[in-house]
Amino acid sequence: MVVCFGCSCLCDDIEVDIESGEVKEVRNACRIGADLFFDRRVNRSKCTVDGDHKNYDDALKYAIDILNEAENPFIYGLDCSTLETQEKAVGLARKLNAGMDDSSSFSDGAIVEKIFKKSIKTCTLEDVRNESDVIVYWGSDPSNSHPRHLSKFSYFPRGEHRQKGWEIDRTLVCIDVRQSSTMKISRKKYIIKPESDKKLVGEIIDAMGGKVPQSHEIGIDAKKLIDLSNLLKKARHGIIFSGMGLTCALKNDLGGLEAIMEKMNELTDFHLIPMLEHYNTRGFNETLYSRTGYVNSVKFNSKGATDHGPEHSFVESLIHNKFDAALIVGSDPLSNIPYSISNKLSKIPTITIDSVNTPTTAISKVVIPSAKDGIESKGRVLRMDGIELNLEKIIDSSVMTEEKIITALIEGVSV
Ligand code: SF4
Repeated sequence: MVVCFGCSCLCDDIEVDIESGEVKEVRNACRIGADLFFDRRVNRSKCTVDGDHKNYDDALKYAIDILNEAENPFIYGLDCSTLETQEKAVGLARKLNAGMDDSSSFSDGAIVEKIFKKSIKTCTLEDVRNESDVIVYWGSDPSNSHPRHLSKFSYFPRGEHRQKGWEIDRTLVCIDVRQSSTMKISRKKYIIKPESDKKLVGEIIDAMGGKVPQSHEIGIDAKKLIDLSNLLKKARHGIIFSGMGLTCALKNDLGGLEAIMEKMNELTDFHLIPMLEHYNTRGFNETLYSRTGYVNSVKFNSKGATDHGPEHSFVESLIHNKFDAALIVGSDPLSNIPYSISNKLSKIPTITIDSVNTPTTAISKVVIPSAKDGIESKGRVLRMDGIELNLEKIIDSSVMTEEKIITALIEGVSV
């Protein structure tokens, strides 16, 4: 059995057959996961500098020169890297007094930080499987984003105290701005107006306190709102799986979310787990938090301290031309961040370490191919709920691991 790295479910029951050093068959994974195990996705091209092929030593030398010459370098990515690599990368950022960030600064980082600070109650996916009777997907659609989430952890499995299964023991609730695939199978469906999530949170809190909801700006009627608040109040063990739909609507203003979690926990036992997209975003957040007290958007300074704030995020730093060299690790900002912003990477020396070719490798000055963790190299990772798992090496490869590449950079750069 090996762990799939296709999403932050990190399913640990995957069977893989290897023949002559190639993956021949994958069992138990969903289609997203199974596809990743076939090595046609792995970039086997050589290192490049300005498009010319180089060996690892030469490419690393160019990368080290770029980092040494930069006054304000920035390290970005690492959501799809092992904890070992993330730890090394934080060490490199500290040595370079660099900026550092991952995609959680424009997704779920703020919620994860609240969980670390214990102002939002959480639990494990095993707790959900064994205990949860009310399961709320809010702004998330796992049927498409995390395909085995419903069957392995939340709605369909029988758990220790949920032996009667989904038919009797669990209620699936879906809150979204559209009829998502997950909503189609939900018993309770709430289609709300875009960006009305904050108002909905307030109305639910009011309804739990006995006030009659004023629903006209939300898109669902008062009766449905009262039904929803009663359902949440009566849960024995409730869980909200928050998605990007909710995160984007709240715009990092999480006061209402904290308030509704507090209200529900006065009345019952309710938890929240963010549906993180990349398989080790949680690991990046925990690694950085344990060393700096922040989950993302930091700038190490020459006094050995760390500056933090939205202005230090990768996107804001790019917009305001705050860095003069970039190291991108296992990420593709050209595909994920608006082109008018991300294309600025092509105007500065950009080094990209990745196991696949992407639009970002195409505009990078230096490209250093890395082994694919979970296939060609192993390492520790954290699931969306913070549980640690191990990715395994199942195929031998001569490609350098991300951890070794970053170790070489640390050894090469001057202080
Ligand atoms: S749900 Fe995610 S971790 Fe599980 S098999 Fe599918 S892609 Fe892999």
